[in-house]
Amino acid sequence: MSGKERAVAYELTNVCKEFHVKGGKNKTVKALKNVTLTVYRGESFGIVGESGCGKSTLVKTMLGLYHPTSGQVCYDGKDINCGDKSVKKQLHSEVQVVFQDPFASLSPRMRVWEIIAEPLIVKGGMKKKELLSRVEELLQLTGLPASAAMKYPHQFSGGQRQRIAIARALSVMPKCIILDEPVSALDASVRAQVLNLLKDLQAQFDLTYIIIAHDLEVMEHVCDRIGVMYLGQLMELASCDRLFSEPLHPYTQKLFDSILTIDPEAPKKRVEIGDIPSPIDTPKGCPFSTRCAARSEACSAEPILSEVRHDHYAACVQLEKYNRSNITEVI
Ligand code: ADP
Ligand code: MG
Repeated sequence: MSGKERAVAYELTNVCKEFHVKGGKNKTVKALKNVTLTVYRGESFGIVGESGCGKSTLVKTMLGLYHPTSGQVCYDGKDINCGDKSVKKQLHSEVQVVFQDPFASLSPRMRVWEIIAEPLIVKGGMKKKELLSRVEELLQLTGLPASAAMKYPHQFSGGQRQRIAIARALSVMPKCIILDEPVSALDASVRAQVLNLLKDLQAQFDLTYIIIAHDLEVMEHVCDRIGVMYLGQLMELASCDRLFSEPLHPYTQKLFDSILTIDPEAPKKRVEIGDIPSPIDTPKGCPFSTRCAARSEACSAEPILSEVRHDHYAACVQLEKYNRSNITEVI
């Protein structure tokens, strides 16, 4: 990286989030454990991990919908949970979110224009005529016809609905958009179109993206840097190029092996990683130790995310030993 300081959007420090288990005496789900990361302005930061690893909890904690059990979430240098209302206000006006099923929480009787304009209506200050013309602009930006405005979401395909959700997120001219599994429900061809749209919009409006996916292939096309999560913990964090060319953590390596099988001609290559342990009774020490081929006694110690190479972080106590044979160049 050059000596120039990069502007920071988000800074998370040792963020933990626990949920109480219903009926379980004093049992908790550790959905996030000591998550520390920085998201820079203008980048696409990806979070990848299997279902249940804490991705959506992370999103909700970054949006201020969940209060972390411990640790700190800073947006634009300010702790979003400090109690200062102006900080939350800034967060809400600058950060928008797109979910996998964006209309789940909205009334099916709302027309598309109302859905897109709702954040603006909440903000206030615009007359209906202005709202409609802004909606028209947003529909155009997201590749939808102006006639979509008066229709209902159920009249659209999955890809079009996701475009509507993106138009809604863009309505208030945010600086940052958090996308939680934005294309997971879409077919491969539609998926690529929506990802391309997201890329175009990012360049056009200088947006910061935080993209969540369980599919590494999605990430390769859109992310600058990627964090790999497992059972609430960040296992590896690196640039997209580096992560794809030289994944260091045994878990990331397994994850790559297990997706090298998208090609239906090669289903036998699939590598089983086995079942994920329960997030209620996480293994002692490294959470991946129960499934890791390289485990040793050293893995009963808690791994700490540390810089293994320049701008390449991993949480594995015996990474050096494990990867010695894989590392071909010394940085
Ligand atoms: P992901 O988005 O990666 O699939 P989640 O963040 O939804 O994972 O969930 C992480 C873990 O936290 C899971 O074990 C899930 O069951 C649990 N969890 C998430 N939200 C809640 C909640 N509101 N109450 C209790 N447990 C929760
Ligand atoms: Mg999720």
